[in-house]
Amino acid sequence: MNNLKINSAFLVHKQYKKITFAAKYTKDYFSICGINMKFIKKYFLFYQTYILLIGLIMSTNILAQDARFTVVLDAGHGGHDPGAIGSISREKDINLSVVLDLGAMIEKNYKDVKVVYTRKTDKYLTLQERADIVNNNHASLFICIHTNASQSSSAYGAETFTLGLAKSKANLDVAMRENSVILLEKDYKTKYKGFDPASVDSYIMFEFMQDKYIDKSIDFSSIIQKQFVSYSRRSDRGVRQAGFWVLHRSACPSVLVELGFISNPAEERFLASDRGQNEMATAIFNAFVDFKRSHDKMSGRPTTHVSKIEKPVNFEEPLKNETLQNVINLPVENELVSESKLKNIEVVSLDNVFNKPVYKIQLFATTKTLKPNSSEFKGLKNTEYFVEGGLKKYTIGSETDYAEIEKVRKDVLSKFPQAFIIVFVGTKKISVKEALTITK
Ligand SMILES: [Zn+2]
Repeated sequence: MNNLKINSAFLVHKQYKKITFAAKYTKDYFSICGINMKFIKKYFLFYQTYILLIGLIMSTNILAQDARFTVVLDAGHGGHDPGAIGSISREKDINLSVVLDLGAMIEKNYKDVKVVYTRKTDKYLTLQERADIVNNNHASLFICIHTNASQSSSAYGAETFTLGLAKSKANLDVAMRENSVILLEKDYKTKYKGFDPASVDSYIMFEFMQDKYIDKSIDFSSIIQKQFVSYSRRSDRGVRQAGFWVLHRSACPSVLVELGFISNPAEERFLASDRGQNEMATAIFNAFVDFKRSHDKMSGRPTTHVSKIEKPVNFEEPLKNETLQNVINLPVENELVSESKLKNIEVVSLDNVFNKPVYKIQLFATTKTLKPNSSEFKGLKNTEYFVEGGLKKYTIGSETDYAEIEKVRKDVLSKFPQAFIIVFVGTKKISVKEALTITK
């Protein structure tokens, strides 16, 4: 040990000797060449200061980049790409309104967060351009907002996706529909390196993708879904995975929200309304509060104390033409409905608010409280219930068009031969005959 110390001390001494010799030699050399040593010294001093300054600027820049939490908000579609089209609204407009509401909430509450929008107006961007914005801004979080659509008008509810290999056809369908905007680009085959959004085979690539942010993305998705249920009273379709191009290049936790179905008349009205858009944005904002807090904690930074937005006192008050009071709050998947929750629930869909008859299919009535995935529904999804005569009456479908509800009934008859059509206007159940005379 001692020998080692002596050896290294000797080495340092040797190096020092070499350097002083070199310095002396250089000085002599310059003197010989007639170069003024003072000038050389000045030049080196200037050079040193320059290097120091550059270093300082660079390091403060890096620090600033690190200190600022950047969230990129992406309103899906835009410009000549309208996204899904409903009967009274377009997906691109709903997405943008929710993004602008959400961005304003974050900007107002967080001084230490930089909000970057992929678009703030009705303009078209390719998926690659959106992904580039995320990486060029060294984003800490990426949130894409979309609105769902389905062939069946009875599908409804909100879901949040993270990147992954779709485990069901339904999930793959959503990704294929959202990725299909790639086809609007002329040179998509070279630009997207052979990825064909319409070919199932292309999606295999997502199976082998290593995503080190997946846990954080899933955590954030679950908080969003919880907020959709508790704040916006949406039906929870859960956290899902599928191969979305826009998510796969981003080097940060990334989620894609499907707010609800534009193809469902009741849900479209909710999503097209200012109130609905604000409620969806608030739910995502509240989830952001949780995400940011745990991000600060994990990175050892002082936490910014921001509270979640509480429901306004008059939240339950019916607003003219827009009340959500009677929307049934479907229980969260895998959660038992408590008796107390059921007691105050009368009836059912948002369409009732508009005093239009809403047709549903009653499947059966029971005293039992069933989970949404209960085997008694024989695999049917998105069932609802209302309480009448002390019984829970379970229904499926929600249509303002009689012909449409007939189709739903035909679809379920093999499983529930006794299923029949019922109608609500407002909170009142009326007969089908009455309803048909109203709509005539
Ligand atoms: Zn979309």
